[in-house]
Amino acid sequence: MAGLGGKRALVLGGSRGIGAAIVRRLVAEGAAVTFTYAGSREAAERLAAETGAAAERTDSADRDAVIARVRDSGPLDVLVVNAGVALLGDPLEMDPDVVDRMFRVNVHAPYHAAVEAARRMPDGGRILVIGSVNGDRAGFPGVAAYAATKSAVQGMVRGLARDLGPRGITVNAVQPGPLDTDMNPADGPLRDMLYGLMPIRRHGRPEEVAAMVAYLAGPEAGFVTGAMHTIDGGFGA
Ligand code: NDP
Repeated sequence: MAGLGGKRALVLGGSRGIGAAIVRRLVAEGAAVTFTYAGSREAAERLAAETGAAAERTDSADRDAVIARVRDSGPLDVLVVNAGVALLGDPLEMDPDVVDRMFRVNVHAPYHAAVEAARRMPDGGRILVIGSVNGDRAGFPGVAAYAATKSAVQGMVRGLARDLGPRGITVNAVQPGPLDTDMNPADGPLRDMLYGLMPIRRHGRPEEVAAMVAYLAGPEAGFVTGAMHTIDGGFGA
């Protein structure tokens, strides 16, 4: 695996779960990787020691910090925006400040990061945002605000693909379904409800998402842009 040899990549939100698997995979593909974290400093330092990637603390809820991190990490060949939060529950009970923070992390950060990366990204660069199958399908109650953030990702991916396509820069979303991470553990309370909605009745593995990211970030995917790539065990089928 060396499809990204000589490439510089930034993964926003790489300390745990899907993001950590993406960091490992991009390093294995030969990229020079920097990743960010917010709360999980020890996990980030362990991953950096394991992989040789650089870890930088940057809160994705802080727009200006995100823009500065992208600027200081560039010029980037590959940007992967993975950092995300999932606040689920009764919309009548949710704290509006917490909902707005989710929009900052899940929507504002990917948009501003992608635009900042595009300023100095060389022709043929790659921008990837980790969305969710909930961008297409709510599926069950309690996901309205989260689903809204992930549907917003779809709009920015389509639009930026049109803006940046003339430079050969591709912009894509990867949309996981239930993935076995701290956010949605395979032994968690949602398991049976989720499996009832899925033809492949298991949680996905972060490495499966990382493999899709590696393809989209790599040299064979230059004709793939403005698209949503769902990996969900059929949840959205
Ligand atoms: P986890 O909660 O397991 O990990 C989230 C990662 O994002 C951590 O590395 C965390 O870093 C980082 N992160 C969260 N908030 C911030 C922030 N404010 N600033 C910087 N980094 C942040 O989640 P997953 O790995 O499961 O999810 C990753 C992505 O995949 C998200 O965008 C999520 O919406 C999406 N997704 C996940 C699904 C699932 O079932 N797991 C399904 C569909 C989509 P730290 O701990 O250092 O703060």
